[in-house]
Amino acid sequence: MAKEAVLTQDNVMKRGITLCSRCFLCGETAETVNHLFLHCKYTQQIWSIFLNRKGISWTMPRKVTEVLMSWEEEGVHAKDRSRWRIIPSAIWWAIWKERNSRCFESIVNNVQKVKLSCILFLVFWCNQLYSNDTTSIIDVLDSI
Ligand SMILES: [Zn+2]
Repeated sequence: MAKEAVLTQDNVMKRGITLCSRCFLCGETAETVNHLFLHCKYTQQIWSIFLNRKGISWTMPRKVTEVLMSWEEEGVHAKDRSRWRIIPSAIWWAIWKERNSRCFESIVNNVQKVKLSCILFLVFWCNQLYSNDTTSIIDVLDSI
């Protein structure tokens, strides 16, 4: 009976095998911060909620820091810049939670559910921003 090779972390290290963690969202490339939060085709669908809503056509910058600078520039036309500035955090939090759900719980949610989570994070945080405000989802989306 052939003994199966078990790829434990110890065996991997002894054999000198380099394991490259694949993106948990698309499974197509290595997971890096910039891929996961900016360039992943799954993540792009979340960004598109807001870009399409504002009619913004842009090429996704290479780095997270560049996105924040570009986002700030695009926010010049936002009705409420404070809310506008929260959007990247809401996107990244929704993506991070989905990534961890897939990684640690083997639960895969469809992109529509992640989009809704993102919007709900945004509304919740916007309502925290204006402490006594209980703005509706529609009001928040109309204000950005
Ligand atoms: Zn990906």
